[in-house]
Amino acid sequence: MTRSILLSPPDVGPSEAAAVTRAVESGWVAPVGPELTAFEREAAARVGRAHAVAVSSGTAALHLSLLAAGVGPGDVVPTSTMTFAATANAIRYTGARPVFVDSTDLDGNIDVALLGSVLRRLRDDGHRIGAVVPVDLLGHVVDYTAIGALCDEFTVPLIADAAESFGSRHRGRPVGAFGFTSCVSFNGNKIMTTSGGGMVFTDSPDVAERLRHLATQARQPVAHYEHKEVGYNYRLSNVLAALGRAQLQRLDAMIERRRVVRAAYRDVFDSVPGARVLGRAPQDQQENCWLTAVVVDPHRAGWSAPDLAQALAAADIESRPLWKPMHLQPAHAGSDAAVTGVAEALFTRGLALPSGSSLRDDDLDRVLAVIRSVAG
Ligand SMILES: *Cc1c(COP(=O)(O)O)cnc(C)c1O
Repeated sequence: MTRSILLSPPDVGPSEAAAVTRAVESGWVAPVGPELTAFEREAAARVGRAHAVAVSSGTAALHLSLLAAGVGPGDVVPTSTMTFAATANAIRYTGARPVFVDSTDLDGNIDVALLGSVLRRLRDDGHRIGAVVPVDLLGHVVDYTAIGALCDEFTVPLIADAAESFGSRHRGRPVGAFGFTSCVSFNGNKIMTTSGGGMVFTDSPDVAERLRHLATQARQPVAHYEHKEVGYNYRLSNVLAALGRAQLQRLDAMIERRRVVRAAYRDVFDSVPGARVLGRAPQDQQENCWLTAVVVDPHRAGWSAPDLAQALAAADIESRPLWKPMHLQPAHAGSDAAVTGVAEALFTRGLALPSGSSLRDDDLDRVLAVIRSVAG
């Protein structure tokens, strides 16, 4: 019996168990407490931001950020079509309409030139553009410099969906440092986890206060329960914040392991015609390598991404197609979209491979052996 190899399982051990025990024994078993405060302080320091607000999920981080930016019914919000549904869902929660923008072939991230033309068209058509929400696909960082310049030109807040890219950098600056806010996820499959959770980073004390207010049912600071607007129950538990602090201590080591995994895949696919690892060349080491994906041109390769997925599954190894683009999702049918076909091609030809930091060397050898048997 061999053991199952998963795509990106949580990587937790004794230090996380000790942290959770410490939080429980302290008596702070609530969405408030010293671990929560410390987790926010430590995470903010890591990305070089003045404020961090810990919430119950990455989706909540996006939702609150959009609300804090004043996004609401009637607004349009350009975002990447190649993303997890949470990005589009959070926009829809506010009553705004997402406008899906296609990808670049290099890394699957939003096509910045296309985004520029979408912003011009929306403005010329008289729409109110509530925000721009780029997504760092699989940890590949978008060009925050170029997108930030576009947002400045159109005076639109940039809300970064950095759910997949915590620990990555753009031009040396940590992800989380960009935009009106940056949102990360600590879901169980992400680069670091609180089992479920997320965080918003911002430099504005007013925005941080607004986020905390909305995340705690918009309760007014008076003794009785007074609410002037509709709020949400979105704060992270103090117990889970303790888990997050332990993960944060190990984040660099976990990223390092994922880089080793990516390098091993790259070694194999570099010599396979018709196959490439999604994303930029590795020399700059700016990426957290959350998931490594291969993109296969079946005509040149003689095999396809689904062929590889099937062979891996037969060996009890999990793999997964890239996100199905949002403009093809029934839930978002009828949405405005600027489509070039690149994201759809990546969806058809891409496959995410086991990339977890707890992947052992012998696990990796098993995966590589299956890849060689299909691609060899
Ligand atoms: C995981 C993810 C989210 C949502 O995070 P949750 O913590 O699962 O709510 C949002 N956007 C992207 C791109 C993600 O991958």
